Parts: sequence; C-alpha cells; structure tokens
Amino acid sequence: FTSKLPKVKTTIFTTIGKLARDHGALDLSQGFPNFDADPKLISLVNHAMENGYNQYAPMQGYYGLREIISKKIESLHAQYYHPEREITVTVGATQAIYTAITAFVHPGDEVIVIKPAYDCYEPAIEVNGGIPVFLQTSADDYKIDWEDFQRKITNKTRMVIINTPHNPSGKIFTKEDMLQLQSILESTDILVLSDEVYEHIVFDSKQHESVSRFTDLAQRSFVCASFGKTFHVTGWKMGYCAAPAYLMDEFRKVHQFAVFCVHHPTQRALAHYLKNAESYLELNDFYQKKRDYFLNGLTNSKFNFKPSEGTYFQLLDYSKITKESDEEFATRLIKEEKLASIPISSFNVNDRDDKVLRFCFAKKEASLEKAVAILSAL
Ligand code: PMP
Ligand code: GLN
Repeated sequence: FTSKLPKVKTTIFTTIGKLARDHGALDLSQGFPNFDADPKLISLVNHAMENGYNQYAPMQGYYGLREIISKKIESLHAQYYHPEREITVTVGATQAIYTAITAFVHPGDEVIVIKPAYDCYEPAIEVNGGIPVFLQTSADDYKIDWEDFQRKITNKTRMVIINTPHNPSGKIFTKEDMLQLQSILESTDILVLSDEVYEHIVFDSKQHESVSRFTDLAQRSFVCASFGKTFHVTGWKMGYCAAPAYLMDEFRKVHQFAVFCVHHPTQRALAHYLKNAESYLELNDFYQKKRDYFLNGLTNSKFNFKPSEGTYFQLLDYSKITKESDEEFATRLIKEEKLASIPISSFNVNDRDDKVLRFCFAKKEASLEKAVAILSAL
C-alpha cells in the first residue's frame, strides 16, 4: 500500500516521554499536570457511574453539559451558541480539530497554519488531501506579520488555523490581532479553526481573545476547547467544539461516524462541576504562580526567555550554553541531567534551527524546584 502520511513518525510526546521514563528523568516535556484533579470532580464521575449513566450519551453530548458550556461562553465572551444546534462534546480538543478539518477540507484545498504549530494540525490536513500553507512567525517574539498572512491567501484557501494562547510559544493574540484577522477574512468564505485549549491559562491580567468575541469571525469559526487542560484531567480526553449551526451540521456528520458520542458519566460530572465558575476562573492565578516560581528560579541562569503570556509552557533559549541542535541538547539533558523537555523543532520550525526548548510548568513546586536547580547549574 502507499502510506497516506509518508512523512509522519511517532509523535515527539510519545518518544520523549519514553526516553524520560527510560532514564528516570524529571518530565517537563509533554503538557500534563503531575498533581491530581479536584477530588470533588472525581467523585462526581463516580456518582454518575453509580447512578446508572453508563450507556451511550446523546450523539451531540449530554444536553445539560452543552447548556452550561453555552452559558459559560456567553458570560465570558457575549456570544450565544445554541446548545442544541451549535455545541458538540468531543473526545478532547484533538477530535474536535480532526473532525472540523475532515468535515470541510477537500483534496487540493489550502489551509493556513501558523508556525510554530502544535503537531496535530498538519497530518489532519494531509490525510484529507489538503495542503498546509505555513506562515512563519517572527524569530524574536513569535509575532504574526498580517501582511504576510494576507499574501498566503489564494482562491484555494479553505481554512485558517489559529491557536491562542499558543503552544509552544506562550504568546496570546491581542485584540488588534483578532481585528486584523477579521478584516482580512471579511470578503472571503474562508473558515477559521480556533484552538483555544489554554483559554483559562492567561497571565498578567491579560484577556483571552476568543474568536467568539468577534461576531463576524465567530460566524465562520470553530472554537475547540479542552476540559483536560482546564481541570487537570488530560487523561479523560474531554473537550468540545462550538460553531454556528450551518458549520456544526456538517461537523456532526463526521463526528457521529468517528466516535458517535463521548464518555457519558464524565459529561454528567462536568455539567455539574462547571456550575461553579471559580473552577475555571481561578486557573489563571494558579498557573501564574507556577510560571513565576519557575522563572524567578532561572533569573541567574544562562537561559534567555520572555515570560509566557498564556498556556503552561515556557520557552527557554539556550544559545549561550551550547551550539547543539535542540534535539541533541534535549536528548543530552534527559540522559545526563535527568530532565526532559520538548525541542521546539518538533513544532515545525526546523528550517530555522532555533536554540529553544519547551518546558511544561504544570508541576508540583518540588518538581519545579528540582528543574530550576538542574537548569541553573548548566
Ligand atoms: N491543541 C493544543 C494547542 C494542545 O496543546 C493540545 C494538547 N492537549 C490539544 C490541542 C489537544 O487537547 P486534548 O488533550 O483535549 O485533545
Ligand atoms: N498538548 C500536549 C503538549 O503539547 C500533548 C498532548 C499529546 O501528547 N498529544 O505537550
């Protein structure tokens, strides 16, 4: 047979994770917390299972969960998504992203992807016969040149993928960025896939600019979100997609045959848990403390960095330490220093040879203390 994805290898998160375990390294590579979720949330899932919610959920998701998601978006971003027609619960944001791309990208369609890019976009486009068109952000601070963006648009452009807060750079889109995007797309029929899995992890009192805050953009957009990131339960693989009904109808045509529906008791639990807005609104402060602890510890190190504006990732530039490539340095850090991180070239910036590693600070203070000690001694 001919591979549909000849360039694709096992993901960096799988290979680095294994290397970290094999060498007994402290793992700040893949993005997941090494502390547990709120016991109340866990007992709500148990409660749902003990009360018989163990059969298929509705295909679109448990209605009570869709209802509370709709209220949450409306209260945060003043945009109404109808729970019946415009919200679907998915197996994490990954399935939402894959489903939106599969439902809309035809062979030969172009999809604009901003580099560095999270690793699941490109293969999802290619397996559907689409063509990723990459837009490189600036080397110094990962900013988008919107004129450059405009030049990437052709009559074949079907979709644009954005990700704010951005993995791996920690950059967030400003209101001006969103307005630029909105005005560039104004007279086109281009769709937007907005990956907002870190929507509740934004620092220094900045505002998360969801596409749903901009009515013209929201009319052409899929918002993809993840409960895994927000409630410290990445292993549950729970997320959702919100989009206007004319887009959601097509999305569901794929969703119903890819997974049909999502783990039912967890949806019941989340519907209950989300009623308390503090459960997600306090996340910014929670993670800002961790970012600040990590970065304060590195003040006298040889690393250069700009504080992450959002996500639970921090990029560190190691060009004052070694000339090794990011893969070589990340591998040596695991084997010799017992500390795992992700080389930034895994996010499709390999043509630039950036001397940058990504560290996940969603970790207990003791883990961050240990990481700081290792990194400061380099
Ligand atoms: N998008 C980005 C930018 C991510 O970092 C991740 C990793 N969690 C995902 C999507 C996938 O989210 P989920 O685990 O909910 O599928
Ligand atoms: N989003 C996580 C990260 O960037 C990884 C999730 C995965 O392994 N696919 O680290």
